[in-house]
Formats: sequence, structure tokens, C-alpha cells
Amino acid sequence: MSHLIAELVDLLKRLPGLGPRSAQRLVYHLLREDRTAAQRIAETLAAAVVRVRHCSECNAFTESDLCVRCTDPARDASQLCVVETPADLEAIEASHVFHGRYYVLMGRLSPLDGVGPRELQVDRFLERATRTEVQEVILATNFTPDGEATAQWLAQRLRALAPNLRITRLARGVPVGGELEYADPATIAYAWHDRRFSDVL
Ligand SMILES: [Zn+2]
Repeated sequence: MSHLIAELVDLLKRLPGLGPRSAQRLVYHLLREDRTAAQRIAETLAAAVVRVRHCSECNAFTESDLCVRCTDPARDASQLCVVETPADLEAIEASHVFHGRYYVLMGRLSPLDGVGPRELQVDRFLERATRTEVQEVILATNFTPDGEATAQWLAQRLRALAPNLRITRLARGVPVGGELEYADPATIAYAWHDRRFSDVL
């Protein structure tokens, strides 16, 4: 195996969903069948690494200081929905139930993986969520053990910081252990309309 190919496989096999075999298959495919695509992937990835950053309001990916959702005056500033990932945000958007603002944690609290409040920069979210215009925070972290624990932790902190804030959590519809990214829009819409005050958790 050439040195460059070995290095590429070594880099790719660490990505989620790719093992050594699929990484090798991918590299061979790009170099043997589709060098134009390989070139474009390399160039686009290089540009994205330089230009894509986090929105200073919602933490989602953007190429400017604020993302399009945060600069959209039609979105309701009194509701703030917190999700784990940009994919979860897109899943909620696809359900068309929500027209407020978002905050993307870019992960979840996961003590076993060494992700605590500091690693997740939770203070940024708490600052965002306790601004005067926010009346309701919707906890839309996933229904996995870590996602549930994150929702409970955030609810406790928010209740301490802003006792009058309405804090809700998506309800039934999303299966236990389920991730929003893989739920269909109708299921998310159902869970959305049935959301509960988080103090019943
Ligand atoms: Zn934003």
C-alpha cells in the first residue's frame, strides 16, 4: 500500500461509521473511479474547515457571525429550543412545528466520555436561555440515557437561575433510546405538541 493511501485510510477509519475496511474501500473508490469527486471533496473540506464556524447566538454551524435562523425576524424569540446536534435541529425543522429560536449544544453531557458542563460550554447556553425575551425553553435533547440526563441537568440549572422560565420537554412519540435525527417528522410533531413541564420528569 502506498504511503499516502495508508495515511488516508488511517485518517478516515477514525470517523464515525467507518472502520478500516470501509475506509480503504472509500479511498480506493475515489482514486480509481472518481478522481474529480476526490478533488472536489478535498477542496470543499479545506474551505469548510477555514470558513465554517459556530453562530455566536445559537452555536449552530454558519459561515458568518450569525446564522440565517438567528437573523430571521419572523422567528419567535420567546421560545428557545435546545438540541444536541445540527442534525437534530434539521429534524425538528422538517416537522414544521416550531418557529422559535434554537440553541445547539454540539453534544451532550456524558461523564463516562469526559464531557462535563465545561467541555460542553453549558454556560453559553445558560446565558442565552436566561435572557429576558425567553419565556419558554424546550429541552429537545435525545431520549438516550445521556440525552435524558442532560435535559434533567439543564432543567435544574435553569430553574435555579430563572424560576419563572417555562421549561418543557418533548413527550411521548419519540421512542425511548431514540434519536431525533432518525425520527419521522410526524412523530416529532406529535411529541412536540405533547411536551410537558420538565418538573414532572
Ligand atoms: Zn444562529
